[in-house]
Amino acid sequence: MGPPGAGKGTQAEVVASRLGIAAISTGDIFRRHADLGSELGRQAQGYMDAGDYVPDEVTNAMVRERLGEDDARPGFLLDGYPRTTAQVDELDGMLCDLGSPLDAVVLLEVDGEELIDRLLKRARTENRTDDTESVIRRRQEVFAEQTEPLVDVYERRGLLVRVDGEGDVDEVLARVLAALPERAGNGR
Ligand code: ADP
Repeated sequence: MGPPGAGKGTQAEVVASRLGIAAISTGDIFRRHADLGSELGRQAQGYMDAGDYVPDEVTNAMVRERLGEDDARPGFLLDGYPRTTAQVDELDGMLCDLGSPLDAVVLLEVDGEELIDRLLKRARTENRTDDTESVIRRRQEVFAEQTEPLVDVYERRGLLVRVDGEGDVDEVLARVLAALPERAGNGR
């Protein structure tokens, strides 16, 4: 977990590959579908471009399907999901059906001004349609309203691991891996 620009996608890819598990990014799946022009992509595009969340029913159904694929069987790292309390409830049900509870929830913490800077920089290099300044601000608001409350939910469950997300990619990666050893079966 972490606000837009915290580095979730960057870290998720490397951490998952180090742990030998699948990285599942809802944002990437939506963008792929949007590029393909699939029905799901058409549904998601407008919300993404406005900086709003795609409706829970659409997102939940997509994640349920993805978690059922073979490569998710040894384990998985969810990037960008859950983001709402309704998604937490739905995920609890999915994990119960799979018999595979969460080991840890990593929160990447980064200062607000640094976040905007990173996203504006990414806008210049990656050409994402949701990286304009007004949409970036909207995404921060939506995160604060809908996703920040999830920090408490997972903290109460004893799953939350806070990681300082400032500094370069390798430094943050080292912190994430160091914070995970037992919970995620790191080094098993
Ligand atoms: P960021 O974390 O930088 O906001 P993502 O690539 O994770 O970027 O997500 C981009 C967009 O995809 C979000 O703004 C939202 O519209 C949509 N999205 C991704 N994950 C979810 C989710 N779990 N629920 C609803 N919408 C989502």
